[in-house]
Amino acid sequence: MRINPINGIMPGCQAIINHKADRQIQTSNRITDLNALNKNYNQLNFRGVSSKESLDYVLKIPLEDRLASMFEKVEKGDLILVGEKLSNAKTKMLESISSIDETIKRVFFLPEKKYKGYVGFFINKDWDKEVINLNNSEIKLIDAETLKSDILTPHDSYYVYENDLMLIPGNYDTLQIKEKPKVDLSGFRKNFCKAVDFSSLEKAEVEKFNRKIVSQLSREAKEVSNKVTFKDVGGQDALITELKRSILYPIKYPEMYDTFDVNKGFILYGPAGTGKTHIARALANEADANFISLNGLEMESKWVGESEENWRNLFDEARQKQPSIMFIDEIDAIGKSRGGSDTYGDKVLNQMLTLISDLDSSRDNIFIIGATNNFKALDKALIRSGRLSKHLEVKLPDRDGVKQIFEIHSGKKPLDKKIDKEALIDRLYDLKASGADIRYVINEAHVMGYDRAGIHEKMENGTITARDKHNFRITQEDFDKAIDKFVETRNGTDRKPIGFKG
Ligand code: ADP
Repeated sequence: MRINPINGIMPGCQAIINHKADRQIQTSNRITDLNALNKNYNQLNFRGVSSKESLDYVLKIPLEDRLASMFEKVEKGDLILVGEKLSNAKTKMLESISSIDETIKRVFFLPEKKYKGYVGFFINKDWDKEVINLNNSEIKLIDAETLKSDILTPHDSYYVYENDLMLIPGNYDTLQIKEKPKVDLSGFRKNFCKAVDFSSLEKAEVEKFNRKIVSQLSREAKEVSNKVTFKDVGGQDALITELKRSILYPIKYPEMYDTFDVNKGFILYGPAGTGKTHIARALANEADANFISLNGLEMESKWVGESEENWRNLFDEARQKQPSIMFIDEIDAIGKSRGGSDTYGDKVLNQMLTLISDLDSSRDNIFIIGATNNFKALDKALIRSGRLSKHLEVKLPDRDGVKQIFEIHSGKKPLDKKIDKEALIDRLYDLKASGADIRYVINEAHVMGYDRAGIHEKMENGTITARDKHNFRITQEDFDKAIDKFVETRNGTDRKPIGFKG
């Protein structure tokens, strides 16, 4: 904002602005003062002077010159506070802090008893000086080139350049911006200026922030690489083809299905650990769909009482985040045959059935996949047409499937070249191992290997090195032990697959 030059607006100011000669007189007065002081400086040894005395001396140097001496020294991010008391300057600066949108690296305090007002000078990233009005009244700024004046409202900031004049509230004292003091004051700065350096603090903060950003980057990269897709599923090619045609393509190419009755409900059934959850998750990732994963057993225990409302909320969420794939593992826990004494189960099932029926008749892009090891136990109403009506069997892998799954899960493991992989795969196939079992055996072999190679011990002693990791290989012996353990554990658990959930 530019306004007309002031003409007699401020007492004592008009002369300075309108009459160059007066300005010169004022300046020359100051020069004289300063010269006198300068002479004194030369005779003074500040080391021997108490800080109060030295302050009294330096306060006699005009503020303009002390400020100019600071301007010679300051850097980007520096803030100079001017005023009578440091504590007041600090409080007032806090009220005006929003006028600085860069980080303050160093703060200097210049005490000044003569002026009643408080001002701040900030050196921004372009090396411009910004003056900040820390007072509750306006400061008038007079542009040295145009002699026009601007109003700096309370807590606001404005650029200032050499020779600009400021009228500081209180006594309307004038302060001229100078780039250089009349005499070299650099040797005395520490006597007239208090400095607090925050640059190392800021560096530490920046470092902390950057570290966070970089680690986030690696986490995100990991998340992306951890996203399972169909290439992470072994031995289920026919099932994958079916899921692509029934769910993936209708989600990706809806225009190709506008005359189709797209089936929205599915049941995946088959032994535990065959990859039902794994496949559903891969499908959601392939379709870039929102994946809602539920567990029938958990729901039964967690949701008693409010389950109907929970179901409605879930379907609302699925609708809002379409396309959605809702996966309900162990669906038999809520979808078992009705008619028994389990009234809670009946209520939930009824609610679920209503919602699924509504879904079937809508054009919402929501698919529900229930998974169970016990297909026979499911309520007929749940699996009839218009509900979860498409039933896909997930079988234990054939020999080829075992090989594929073995490659998927051992791909990144350090395997000894002498391992007889084909024999291992034969053994796992003969044992009717599921995908989860194969993964378990591979990880267990890795653990056995760490034991054999003394890696666990070294980790315990803190003597582990990068070389240990580099030289380590999982051997045939480790796999043999892992398979023995797997057989033993499975026999002890009633011959059920023991693989773990991913
Ligand atoms: P289910 O849901 O049938 O009980 P999961 O999908 O929970 O089985 O399987 C557990 C883990 O076993 C998976 O996360 C995955 O790592 C592995 N797994 C199971 N089946 C396969 C498969 N066909 N291909 C690759 N990995 C599999």
